[in-house]
Order: sequence, then structure tokens, then C-alpha cells
Amino acid sequence: MSQLYDDAFTGRSCLLGSDAQQVADQLRNFGDTRQVLGQWSFAPAMNHLGVPPRYLDTASHQVNSLASRYELYEQVGFVSPALMFSAPGPSMSAYVVAGLGNEQQQDAFFGQFLETLCWSCFAMTEPARGSDAGAMQTTATRVDGGYLISGQKMFIGNGIVAETGVLFARTAPGQLGINAFLFSPQNPAITRQRLALTGLEGTNLAHMQFNDMFIPTADVLGLHLKPTQRFARSAMATFDALRPCVGALALGVARRALHEWQACVTPDPAQRQQLSRLKRRWHTAYHEALTLCQQADKQQAPAKSPGMVKTTSVMIAEEIVSQLIHAFPADQGPLPTGLWQAFRDVKAFEYTEGTRQIHRLGQSFSPRLASQECR
Ligand SMILES: Cc1cc2nc3c(=O)[nH]c(=O)nc-3n(C[C@H](O)[C@H](O)[C@H](O)COP(=O)(O)OP(=O)(O)OC[C@H]3O[C@@H](n4cnc5c(N)ncnc54)[C@H](O)[C@@H]3O)c2cc1C
Repeated sequence: MSQLYDDAFTGRSCLLGSDAQQVADQLRNFGDTRQVLGQWSFAPAMNHLGVPPRYLDTASHQVNSLASRYELYEQVGFVSPALMFSAPGPSMSAYVVAGLGNEQQQDAFFGQFLETLCWSCFAMTEPARGSDAGAMQTTATRVDGGYLISGQKMFIGNGIVAETGVLFARTAPGQLGINAFLFSPQNPAITRQRLALTGLEGTNLAHMQFNDMFIPTADVLGLHLKPTQRFARSAMATFDALRPCVGALALGVARRALHEWQACVTPDPAQRQQLSRLKRRWHTAYHEALTLCQQADKQQAPAKSPGMVKTTSVMIAEEIVSQLIHAFPADQGPLPTGLWQAFRDVKAFEYTEGTRQIHRLGQSFSPRLASQECR
């Protein structure tokens, strides 16, 4: 099985381009997101999962199936997951706009990404209301010609640099009172603050305060749909597609940790056995998630929920990194930088696309019902 793990990657070229590691290192040193990623040869192809084919520039977007995206994300995790969190592209907003947007909204939103490198954000989480997204409190108050948005969003990826995005806010009480809006994160009625992070250095996550920001009615998504088809459907489509990919990022970080460890240590027989066990677990998780993505690409019912696949991958990745840190020989000198980075980075995946408790709860009760209420 250890052989399988090694076979999976030896001789395989890095899809991300030969400049990916250099770009990732610059990003880690807190380089300017737009300037650093603007130089990356692969940047135009990132974060296009869920984009309708008519808006894809076929020359640069060859990686369109979920399974090929999964493999790509694993490679991103190996190089640096901050590349994914900071990259341009429609990203998480793509599924929402593709699922809820009318033709004009889709043309306007996706058209921006065809013209130039463009960053987007997905503003859902609020301070103290993350897993329980249905309890969000940001309000959209009806006024002449549109809505006034008031409230706060938290941990918003690319919230500092994005030109466009999707925002969720409440037009009425209850689950069905949440709507999605197209918005410009650079609007002067938003106060944005970059959050300090431990791990994922170079990723920009923002706190956003909305001070009666006006959004015209034309930018409300899904008005042609029933309320039951708006928030839950668009949010779940996004999360179901991205959860296995978050697991892939975590496994990529774990593979990098294995790589860094083996570059420094000549294992004794006991350590060789431990490595072999860790690689076996890594490979099982990778294969399980890849199979789920292949099933989704063929429109088949998945054998396991995407949330639980993500949970399993993240837990195995955390365990691999932790065991490697503890197994690093004390007389070998300080821990290599790459292992420290993996130790810090791997913690983030528990919180992206829903925590393990929430996925377990969703699995234990009525899976579909529970996952629509929480993420
Ligand atoms: C790197 C990164 C990027 C992110 N990017 C974005 C983004 O672009 N847009 C966005 O909107 N959000 C983003 N997030 C936020 C992310 O979606 C939230 O962190 C996540 O939903 C969890 O919410 P929370 O942090 O408020 O934790 P909480 O929901 O407060 O959870 C804290 C703990 O309580 C547990 N818990 C919560 N509810 C229950 C329950 N009912 N039963 C049992 N246990 C429970 C959880 O499992 C967890 O262990 C990002 C987060 C990270 C780390």
C-alpha cells in the first residue's frame, strides 16, 4: 500500500506550473495578494469550479470535472493551501450565481472573470454565527429601488481584495427569509479589516461591517425562484461541491509533511512501519474522496456524504502531521520549516466548509434535513 502512495505521485508533473512554489513563498511572506498572484502562470485557471461552460475560456480552463479539481486541490495543498484561499476567480460564489442568477446577472458576474484577473468573495459567516448560518442577523431592508444592508460578516476569504462577490442577508425572519445578493466589496459603505491568522500565512480573511449599503433590486439573486429554492439550495450546492476539495487540500498538506520528514530523517525499522501505516491511511482517504468526486461527475448518488468525506480527510491529515512532529528525532536539530507550516496550516480545514461536529450531527439525524439547517 505504501507503494501505492508513492506511485500516485512519482513522475507526475505539477499541474500548478513550475512557478507555483515561488509564488506561494512570496505569498507566505505577506506579499501583496493581487501583485503576487497576478504573476502566477496558473492563476487564471484557479477557482472556476461550478462556472457554466459558456463562461469558461477553454484555453486556460482544462480542469473542469470535480475529480480533476480534487486532484488539483491536493497539489495546491502540497505546495501551499494559501494559494487556493487567495486566488482569483468566481470561487464559492460560482455555484450561487449559476444556480440562482438570471441571464443578465450571470453575464455580468461571470463576464468580469473573462476580461481580467478578478477576485471574488462569499460573505456568509457572521461573528458567533458560523455553523448555524440559518441564524444570521445581517439585514436587508427594503427601500425604494433596492435594499439597505446592515450587519457584520466574519472570516471572509479575499474580502479585502475582491472586486465582486455574493452576500447573504435576511429580508424576513426564519430560514426562508435569507436571500443572496451580488455586491461590490469595495463599496464605501463597508468597513473592512484584515484578520490576523496563525497558519495559512498570506491568506487574507476579513471582517466586514455593512453600514446601510445600498444594493439595487437587480442584484438580488433568485427572485424568479420560490423562497424554498434560494438560500438552502444555493448554499448546499456550493458546500457539497467544495467539501471533498477542502479534504484534498488537507491531504496535500499531510503529503507535504511526509515529504519534509523523509527529506530530513533516515527512518529506523519502527519508524518505517509507522510511515507505512500513515501512508496507507492517507491513500485510503484520498481514494475514497476521489471516488466520491467521480460519482458526482457521473451524476451518481455518492456512497458517503461530502461533509463526512471532508471530515475523514481532515482528521487523517491532522493525525499524520501530529504523528510526524512527535516522531521527529530530538537529536536531528530544529523542526524543518515545512513541518511547522503543515502543523499550523492543517488546523484551518476543520473550520472551512463545516466542522466535524456539524457533519457528524448531519450524518446521525436526517442527513439531508440537518445539512440544510447547518453547515
Ligand atoms: C481559512 C478559512 C476561510 C474561510 N472562508 C470563509 C468565507 O470565504 N466565507 C464565509 O462566509 N466563511 C468563511 N469561513 C468561516 C467558516 O465557514 C466558519 O469558521 C465555520 O462555518 C464555523 O463557524 P465558526 O467559526 O463560527 O465556529 P462555530 O460555529 O462557533 O463552532 C465552534 C465549535 O462549536 C461546534 N458546534 C457549533 N454548533 C454546534 C452544535 N449545534 N452542536 C455541536 N457542536 C457545535 C463546532 O463543531 C466547533 O467545534 C472561513 C474559515 C476559515 C478557517
